[in-house]
Amino acid sequence: MPGFDSPAAAAVVLDKGGLDGLIAGLGAGGFRVIGPTVSGDAVVYDDITSVKDLPAGWGDEQQGGRYRLVKRQDGALFGYTAGAQGWKRHLYPPRQTLFTARRKDKGYEVLPPPPAPPPMAFIGVRACELAAMAVHDRVFGDKTAPEPGYQRRRAAAFVVAVECGQAGGTCFCASMGTGPEVTAGFDIKLVELPARGVFVATAGSSAGADMLARLKVAAATEADKAEAARRVAGARPAKIMDTAQARGLQAKAEHSRWDEVAKRCLTCGNCTMVCPTCFCSSVEDSTDLKGETSERTRTWDSCFSIDFSYIHGGAVRTQARSRYRQWITHKLSAWHDQFGGSGCVGCGRCITWCPVGIDITEEVAAIAASDQGR
Ligand code: SF4
Ligand code: SF4
Repeated sequence: MPGFDSPAAAAVVLDKGGLDGLIAGLGAGGFRVIGPTVSGDAVVYDDITSVKDLPAGWGDEQQGGRYRLVKRQDGALFGYTAGAQGWKRHLYPPRQTLFTARRKDKGYEVLPPPPAPPPMAFIGVRACELAAMAVHDRVFGDKTAPEPGYQRRRAAAFVVAVECGQAGGTCFCASMGTGPEVTAGFDIKLVELPARGVFVATAGSSAGADMLARLKVAAATEADKAEAARRVAGARPAKIMDTAQARGLQAKAEHSRWDEVAKRCLTCGNCTMVCPTCFCSSVEDSTDLKGETSERTRTWDSCFSIDFSYIHGGAVRTQARSRYRQWITHKLSAWHDQFGGSGCVGCGRCITWCPVGIDITEEVAAIAASDQGR
């Protein structure tokens, strides 16, 4: 959706001072700069003003139902893998006022919307997260149901991508074709070389090239570029998802595995909240106590919530098996028909943040392992 043009050819090397200059330059240019921070024992994308805010020397350990920050010895600024939540909460906020209306003598008036907030600059976007943004570009760019707020925020955003230097314990980007290499959709791409405390940087748009031109950089040598390529090559995750099996889920609606997973699933909806592509929402109307003003608000919702499938007379997905099946079948199979690609980018968050460690890749493999289910 945003206008990323042809990448400027030359890679350059900048040090941590140069990265600090990039963050400061974006802030001075009117951007709200958001990047990884340590908060509540997790890496969280939040406002930053300098490299001092970044999670220096922190990595993470992730597995089903488990997330722990761990200290690294190399002082890497981007040494973690997927943060606790993706960029979705900034581009598609969990709670949005759609409009406010005020009572008049006769009828009501809709108040003008508040001024648009400043554009955002995202620091540290991973390959899978760029893929998730591309998914939302398709979903929210749909001509029949466009989402103008998302489109405005996305079009104005400046994206600094960082290639992973290691795979997370739950991610499987390579089998989804979304990573770990960053190939498109960025203004600037960085590869961190922690042992030297420098970054190999490449511009992916004219805005990115302009920004790099203002920083103190050195031309990248062939050795720098080879080191950067080796680093991302070492970040390919071992975990895989068989995408053909995943696509076939729609034909397995009555498989006994749905009952088995329902015994473990708490229907808490964590998986949908952390997923960078889930976009279900609800709309609620409220008034003040005097009935003078009313507000329409959109909030994130989840297909795991019983109310979400409520239509006149009751909910149509009353059981955990049908809610889990709806989530995974839509995401991995029906999404292709609806949006032209998978709704999963392989970030692994739904596995890490599932309190009982349900693993989407294991469920797909188990369902594909037998022919039952039609
Ligand atoms: S799969 Fe896990 S995270 Fe998702 S609703 Fe079930 S228990 Fe919660
Ligand atoms: S389904 Fe799970 S692995 Fe796939 S994009 Fe969503 S959170 Fe990431």
